[in-house]
Amino acid sequence: MHLRIEAQGVVPPDLALCAACAEETDTPGERRYRYPFTNCSHCGPRYSIIARLPYDRSQTTMQAFPLCRACVREFEDPADRHFRAQPIACPVCGPRLSLLRPDGGILAEGEEALGQAVAVLKEGQVLALKGLGGYQLLVDATSAEAVLRLRERQRREDKPFAVMFPDLASLRAACEVGSPEQALLASPEAPILLLWRKPGTQVTEAIAPGNPRLGAFLPYTPLHHLLLAVVDRPLVCTSGNLSDEPMAFEDGDALIRLGGIADVFLAHDRPILRPVDDSVLRLDGDGPTLLRRARGFTPLAVPLAGFTDAPTVLALGAHRKATVSLLQGGQVIMSQYLGDLTSLEGADLLSRTAEDLLDFFGATPVRLACDLHPDYASTRLAERLAADWQLPLLRVQHHHAHGAACAAEHGLEGPVTALAWDGTGLGDDGTLWGGEALRIEGPAYTRVGHLRPFPLPGGEAAGREPRRSACGLLWSLRGAGLPPPVLAPAFDGPDWKLLQTMLAKGLHSPLTSSIGRLFDAVAALVSLHARRGFEGQAAMALEFAAGSRVEPPYAWELDEGVADPSAMVDGVLADLAAGHDAAFIAARFHASLADLALAWAQLSGLPDVVLSGGCFQNARLTELVQARLGAAGFRVHRHRLFPPNDGCISLGQAVVVARQG
Ligand SMILES: [Zn+2]
Ligand SMILES: [Zn+2]
Repeated sequence: MHLRIEAQGVVPPDLALCAACAEETDTPGERRYRYPFTNCSHCGPRYSIIARLPYDRSQTTMQAFPLCRACVREFEDPADRHFRAQPIACPVCGPRLSLLRPDGGILAEGEEALGQAVAVLKEGQVLALKGLGGYQLLVDATSAEAVLRLRERQRREDKPFAVMFPDLASLRAACEVGSPEQALLASPEAPILLLWRKPGTQVTEAIAPGNPRLGAFLPYTPLHHLLLAVVDRPLVCTSGNLSDEPMAFEDGDALIRLGGIADVFLAHDRPILRPVDDSVLRLDGDGPTLLRRARGFTPLAVPLAGFTDAPTVLALGAHRKATVSLLQGGQVIMSQYLGDLTSLEGADLLSRTAEDLLDFFGATPVRLACDLHPDYASTRLAERLAADWQLPLLRVQHHHAHGAACAAEHGLEGPVTALAWDGTGLGDDGTLWGGEALRIEGPAYTRVGHLRPFPLPGGEAAGREPRRSACGLLWSLRGAGLPPPVLAPAFDGPDWKLLQTMLAKGLHSPLTSSIGRLFDAVAALVSLHARRGFEGQAAMALEFAAGSRVEPPYAWELDEGVADPSAMVDGVLADLAAGHDAAFIAARFHASLADLALAWAQLSGLPDVVLSGGCFQNARLTELVQARLGAAGFRVHRHRLFPPNDGCISLGQAVVVARQG
């Protein structure tokens, strides 16, 4: 029974329900008919339940379930698909379901728990489900009322929800699915895939207001499979958390943190050791972009060319979409997506994950890496660990890390031009960067180009209030004054005055060169989510408004790499005055950014250009920049295996620090 499949150093990620296990679960008379924990050597829980290596049942949370005779026979039979399946289980010996009230009282168990959970969902109530790598919140995706109830309780205004469909046929009825998409949906990774929505489907608009895409996926555990088959309609299936906290995965904690959100809990007695969220992926014409890297991908090691002899480095990452990376033996192991570190729970999870990653892989780092920003929870953790372990801590500029991450992913060892465009990250001059063209060589970089900085009243908080970016940008271009008529509706009189006073006195108005904030400013000018929204919402609205429309770009003035947006903003205001719509202006704005990318690439003059930063989650922008640079003869590289957003920062930090002296 002590079988070790990780002999080649492969630690398996959690894998989606395979076809054979789905069939066994669905077939009357089979041993595992309607059993929600069916798995085999091709599917089931792995990383989320393995305490330590070697991978053996006794080292997983399944050690609490002694195998019955029938399971032992299957486990030991090389001809059986359960051969050496460490988490093997059946209704006789394996985990069981229970339905709980938020106070922990048991309402039902086993099949009865499943049946009552179905009824709860059909009534439009909120179900907390203990899934594979954590708790999820489920409601009927066809009921606007149910979805709005979840939004209110979760304090989540209009951030899109992912939707799980009972089967491929129902998913196809709601979204555009080609054969590459179909293959991904049915893959062992079974990610949430961002698809184009079809009009007039049963999925309520409240799922993702104003968003032409839908995050869709298929049941990936037998529990989801059984539940969705009986509910027989699409369900919102979102990480079990409140607002910006990380996903709950421990039973007691889940009841406390989700008790005010869920009406009932469908839980089970198989402990989850570490939270593994659902991965999110988008497929473009030329390949996938992984927007959230977790289930199905973590903890796969990715070899990095040129780092075989590099020192072992632990990198603590950024502040949002946090990850931790371990560079060891020429490979990088990136932790699962951990969410934002704004809450105490988030900071605690980061700390646990960093130590877990080292323990799990038996790694002893000789250097630590973190961001330049002194207030990130990741920076503070890095400082504490450096002191505890007596290790050198090296701080890596945020956009340098972005560019280095993309270069490392593509094995680029020579100098590259990095276009690192995102919300904000601390620059080495103390301002907030985010519209950067860097020339990266070895462990060093030079700033080749950037957006001319403008003040951001309220600082990083402006990310949720695009009108602040518009106000700061206009102030920097034209000085104090009344809001242009187009912005007036976004401001109550005193608001505008207050911001103008802050700007005049330089109060809490740091300078930024952020293209993410430029997106926000332009979105506010064309009246898209000007007042408030989730980070990136206004930029997404601008992307969707542009669609695939092609319009002439606005002009830029470039002075030694510093891009002055004055002419561009004048162009936007003139178009508004002439009665042009948001789609026209958004298309021109996107085209201008492709022009800027080309101007910076030419100024830097290197053949390889890497694209990184949250702005490159924008499919239209990425496509335009790639096409423009490609036509001019540049080799353009974008993230594939790691996210373009701050999820890649820990990787970039690790490679920069590994290359230092
Ligand atoms: Zn299976
Ligand atoms: Zn059994």
